[in-house]
Amino acid sequence: MKWLQRMVSRRKMGSNRWRKAALMLAKCHEYIANQRKDAAHKISRYLVDHYDWIAFEDLNIRGMVKNHHLAKSIVDAGWRMLVQFTAYKAEWAGKQLIAVDPRNTSQVCSECGRIVKKTLKERTHRCSCGYVVDRDVNAARNILHKAIGYVPEPRYGQLELNLF
Ligand SMILES: [Zn+2]
Repeated sequence: MKWLQRMVSRRKMGSNRWRKAALMLAKCHEYIANQRKDAAHKISRYLVDHYDWIAFEDLNIRGMVKNHHLAKSIVDAGWRMLVQFTAYKAEWAGKQLIAVDPRNTSQVCSECGRIVKKTLKERTHRCSCGYVVDRDVNAARNILHKAIGYVPEPRYGQLELNLF
């Protein structure tokens, strides 16, 4: 797509060669949009077929923060599509969908409740309680906990361990 965009901007607007490149660019956009839609349909179908109860982060709660980061806004748009497709499929199937506030879902330790600050680059959650897991798995557990109203607490043995 980048390559096509460059072609379009380099060619003389309105010329035959420009028109050809612009058409290819439009087709490329359409292809990518279709692939994303297709993926959202497949994933939402899988979720609704396999689970009676689904919890997800509600991006609308985080708010439409002014976002100039294109890649991020494309990811958000894809996420919204997935949530929408899952929502209507779940409704048809009579299954339950719960949206939770996404605040801190990636920072809280899903095992003991401590805040473990991490940047987006850090892909692993490592807590002083000894819980080490993929950051997305930790976030998913936190989303589930919020949905059911469970608050993780440090366990006795772990507290003792952390004194050393
Ligand atoms: Zn922990």
